[in-house]
Amino acid sequence: MKIGIDLDDVLCDYATAFVKYHNDTYSTTLTKADIWSYNFWDVLNISREEAVKRVYAFGRSSKMMDIDPVPGAKRAVDSLLARNHELSLITARDADFSDITHHWLARHFPGVFSDIHFVNHYSTTTAPRSKGDVCREIGASMMIDDSFDNAISCHGVCGSGVLLFDAPWNANKELPVGVHRVFSWYDVLEKLT
Ligand SMILES: [Mg+2]
Repeated sequence: MKIGIDLDDVLCDYATAFVKYHNDTYSTTLTKADIWSYNFWDVLNISREEAVKRVYAFGRSSKMMDIDPVPGAKRAVDSLLARNHELSLITARDADFSDITHHWLARHFPGVFSDIHFVNHYSTTTAPRSKGDVCREIGASMMIDDSFDNAISCHGVCGSGVLLFDAPWNANKELPVGVHRVFSWYDVLEKLT
């Protein structure tokens, strides 16, 4: 089947790298466990505009290429390909970050994705799209994401359900039938057998 896969905090250990960058740049003492909301501006008690500015500054820094993959992700996606699944990358990132994203994917996940979609959730210049709309358009039967809101947007669209990677920013969310919490890529492979 066709499976949509998110990038940040599903394949790419974004939060760990961003927290380190943020602590170094803004003299904070955050840990990943402190990120209780997907909306980073709520975590820091700053404006959405300022939070997006910081995320974009990180995105344009040399640190972006140094982000590690999530443990187990590479072996897991290889295993999904071996089972003849077709994998589509669907990221909330702005298409402005297309080059760095393609470079990072070429380094860590070469040849894995049949198509790559930027849905521009934080863009100030390009209209955002919902991941659910992308899944509908490309015919994805399943979505794997760490954002509760993205999971809900794909719920009912992806006939085989949605897998939500457990994270501090979604830990207290109650999941509807059809959205399943997973704790690792090993867990994903188990759910998909
Ligand atoms: Mg994500």
